[in-house]
Parts: sequence; structure tokens; C-alpha cells
Amino acid sequence: MRIYKFGGASVKDADGVRNVMNVLRTMGTEKLGIVVSAMGKTTNALEAIISSYESHDNTYLKLIDHLQEQHLQIVEDLERSSSDVKEEWLVRFRESDIKKDIKAIIESLKGEMLRNKSRNYSFLYDQVVSHGELLSTRIVAAFLNACEIPVIWKDARQLIMTDNKYRDATVDWQHTQEQVIHQCQDELFITQGFIGSDDNGFTTTLGREGSDYTAAILAYSLDASEVTIWKDVPGVLNADPRVFDNTVLLQKIPYDEAIELAFYGASVIHPKTLQPLQEKEIPLNVKSFIDPTAMGSTITSSESLVPTTPCFIVRKNMVFLRIASRDFSFIGERSISKIFDQLSENKVQVGLLQNSAISFSLCVEDKYAKIETLLEGLQKNFKVSHVSGVSLYTIRHYEGDTIQDMEDGKDVLLKQRTQETLQLVVRE
Ligand code: ADP
Ligand code: ASP
Ligand code: MG
Repeated sequence: MRIYKFGGASVKDADGVRNVMNVLRTMGTEKLGIVVSAMGKTTNALEAIISSYESHDNTYLKLIDHLQEQHLQIVEDLERSSSDVKEEWLVRFRESDIKKDIKAIIESLKGEMLRNKSRNYSFLYDQVVSHGELLSTRIVAAFLNACEIPVIWKDARQLIMTDNKYRDATVDWQHTQEQVIHQCQDELFITQGFIGSDDNGFTTTLGREGSDYTAAILAYSLDASEVTIWKDVPGVLNADPRVFDNTVLLQKIPYDEAIELAFYGASVIHPKTLQPLQEKEIPLNVKSFIDPTAMGSTITSSESLVPTTPCFIVRKNMVFLRIASRDFSFIGERSISKIFDQLSENKVQVGLLQNSAISFSLCVEDKYAKIETLLEGLQKNFKVSHVSGVSLYTIRHYEGDTIQDMEDGKDVLLKQRTQETLQLVVRE
């Protein structure tokens, strides 16, 4: 079995969906599981719907209608003639139930929100945002089926079994593996990334950008021969091309190196994706959906990075904290443990930390807008200063020149160096 994952960018419009069909025709559909994310920025739109709902205005219903319009528009665009789609396939697609299916999914979303009694934000979040993947997979499946690529649609909530830590659910591996082995023996199936369900059958999600992780979970459970994630870039580059010029394609990446890159924030791969694959030595290919036969990157148990080159990662919008004791005492184990309790309680993620005798410095990501609560908590015991909107630069395999180039013209608040990795906290 092979697993393919198509992300939001690859199915953002009708051209994207047609391109998925072309990639499958080019690469073959034998023994293949396909994981698809929500289309384009749908998950962000669903988050906006929840915010609107939470602020008790009724515009959320209008936003839901707009989401329906966008998906129906993609279907209508797919119904139009195109050089790579045969007329008989179009006829079949036009005759399919896809518009009805979209409307039914949207109705279920509205019903879910209108009936909601839970005051647990994360619970509601998962029940709502999961609709993005339900919509996208229905559309892609209907189109592929019309185009003589017979694919079976599966509900990932019956495959990916998790606990009830909504928005960041933990996978129950044994239960998941049983379900996947039992239900995914078809030659060609398609399912949703990002979503699963808990013991009570409520929908859960695996964390933003979690569809890569779904691909890895399925691959692990099925002992797949390989996973390919299809991206709008030629593969894993030595830096994000949106931020850096002259990037270099990393052709071969050892698992450990890729785990480090993802951990430091190379957002091209979700950080949880690699470990399950490494355990079963399943290669992960990262390839361009625009040029599917091009080489791309392969992450395996190879010895070293090819080519050997410095890799750059930037995480923007971080917060720099400097914490000192109020009574001139040293920052010892007890203080550090208090600091970490506060961080964990507020789900604030640490990107870098450094301690000296009298202060403790941290660069953190405020994923869930909890920084104010964190600061209040810390200030009960410590003197705390903070700078918002900083960037954390990480350079793996740095060389003399690269350090100088990185630092030039920047207001560096903190620098930390280990044998392989240099990190800078920079005020932007
Ligand atoms: P998906 O459509 O699967 O959600 P993403 O948008 O999450 O895709 O990931 C692809 C994007 O990741 C690219 O457009 C690129 O800007 C960004 N990116 C960040 N770091 C890297 C890197 N080291 N190599 C390639 N792309 C990167
Ligand atoms: N749709 C989800 C998100 O945007 C999951 C994913 O795309 O991987 O976060
Ligand atoms: Mg993504």
C-alpha cells in the first residue's frame, strides 16, 4: 500500500482538483490510500465562523452560507469543459449527487452549531472545523469517480481513534491500527486528514496542519511501502522560499534530520509525522504537485543530508520572556518547575530556552492567545519582562559566513549555539 496526501494548497480550486486527477493518472492508482485536507483556507474560514458564533452575533450563519457558495462554485467550475477532462466524465460528474452532498454537510454543520450546548470551546471547535475535510473529500471523490478513477470514500472518524483532548487529540494507536486494517483493504480509498473521533464518537482533531500526520498514521497502520505528500514546492528546501531567496532542494534527508527541521519549525512537514514512519522505516517523499515526476525530497534512514548545506528556519510572531526572581535568589530547579507548570497550563510552546544564575530566558509561541494569562501567573512569583512579535531564527549546520549574514542589521536579543544548531531571537 502507498499513501498520498494532498494538502489545502493542492485542492484550493477546480484546477487543483483536476490536477489531483492528473497526478493520479501519471503516478498510478494501484493500492493507494489518499488523504486530503480542507480546500485552500477553509479551516481558517471555519475558525472565523466559530469566533463569530462565540461572540453571539448571527453573522456566523451568513459565513456558513458563504462557505457553501465557495464549495458549490468549485463544483460548478469542475462541471465546465477542460482540455484534460473527457465530455463523458463531465456528464457523469454533473449527474452525480455532489451538490446535494455539499448541502447536506452544510446543514449538518448548521444543525450542530444551533444545537450546541457545550461550553467547551475546543469541543465545539473540533465538531465545526472537521467539516472542511468532509467537504473537500466528498468533492474530490465525486470528481475522481466521474473521471473513471474508482475511489472509495472513508470517514476518518471511523479510522483514527483518539482520546478526547479536543484540538490536539492523542492517537490510540492500537485501536486505530485495528480499525484501519479492518476497513482499508480496498485498492483505492480516499479519506480526510486532520480528523478522528473519541470513545463517545465525537469528532476530534490532531492539531492545525495535522493532515500529514494522518497520512503517517495510516501508513504505519497498514505497513505502507511509502508516503508521498504533494506540495506547492519542489520538495523540502533548505529554507522557506516565501522568506529566503536562492533556496536549495534537499534530495535526501535522514529521519532524524527531518525531525529536527520540523521540530524547529520548518512548516513544510507537520512535526508529528516522522516518528511513526521512522519506526517502520517507511520512506516519506515530498514532491511537487505541479511537476509530479520530478525527483523531490526523500526522507529515509539514509546516513546524511544530501546535499550538505546550512538550513534556515524562521518562526515569526514569537514572544521573548526574561524571568528573574524577586528576591535576588538564583533561578533553581524549584523556580524552573514553577515556570514550566505555567507554560504547560497555558499551552504555550517553547522554541528556545536559556538559563543563567539569575535569569531564565524563553522564546515562546502563543498558539492559543494565552500569553496575558501566562504573564499574570508568572508575575505572582517572578519579575518578568517580555517582547512580543520577535522572530526565532534557527540555522542547522551553520558555517562562519552564514552566522554573520544572518546577524547583519538585526537587533539580536539572544543567541544560542550548539554543535549543529545556531538560534537567534530577533526583534523585528
Ligand atoms: P499543504 O498544502 O500541504 O498544507 P503547506 O502550505 O503546509 O502545504 O506547506 C507548503 C509550504 O511550506 C510551502 O509553500 C512553503 O512556503 C512552506 N515551507 C516552509 N519551510 C519550507 C521548507 N524548508 N521547504 C519547502 N517549503 C517550506
Ligand atoms: N485543514 C487543516 C488545517 O488547515 C489540516 C491540514 O491542512 O493539514 O490546519
Ligand atoms: Mg497545510
